[in-house]
Amino acid sequence: EEARASAGRPGNRLTVLSGPSGVGKSTVVAELRRAHPEVWLSVSVTTRKPRPGETHGVEYFFADGEEFDRLVASGGLLEWAEFAGNRYGTPRAPLEEKLAAGVPALLEIDLQGARQVRASMPEALLVFLAPPSWEELEKRLRGRGTEPEDVIARRLAAGRVEMAAEKEFDVTLVNTSVQDVCHRLITLMADDSEAPRPG
Ligand code: 5GP
Repeated sequence: EEARASAGRPGNRLTVLSGPSGVGKSTVVAELRRAHPEVWLSVSVTTRKPRPGETHGVEYFFADGEEFDRLVASGGLLEWAEFAGNRYGTPRAPLEEKLAAGVPALLEIDLQGARQVRASMPEALLVFLAPPSWEELEKRLRGRGTEPEDVIARRLAAGRVEMAAEKEFDVTLVNTSVQDVCHRLITLMADDSEAPRPG
């Protein structure tokens, strides 16, 4: 019954998915969007240019630097970070609304963002998505074919830093297959909404 009481606690149904660029986070999120519409996915704001196939309001809200500055200044972002030369942030209001309504919510953000969420919402479950190997990560990042070499190099450098932070997370999932990761993530989120975490 204690579990029940805590299920509505803000932050208790918040899950953060993080991991190095190229590990397959957005593929996992796309599969969740398709197979698990009951999970609410936060849509971040970014100053990065859209990749082919990305739609404003679906993968991201694409903004220019001034719009991003205004959001930061007005406290509209729960967290934000600069990643490989662009800024990314989580809009605060829609997330707080979903959490208040008890809807399970997922943020797909970088390591710096995950640390900010850890600090402001200690009840959030932090999940680290790891590649099967470093070689595999490099292969995936290059195989995407959407970024020039200097961008890939920056993302690989950031990836090395992110890989070293795995132990800061509550759980690690190794991305062997997208269906498998989705299944394990959904199971974790369901367990998490029932059991209060220590501390
Ligand atoms: P990409 O440009 O590949 O879509 O994303 C680059 C990195 O930014 C990824 O690690 C992604 O998880 C992260 N990211 C996306 N949205 C946010 C956000 O709102 N906040 C933070 N801190 N990182 C984000």
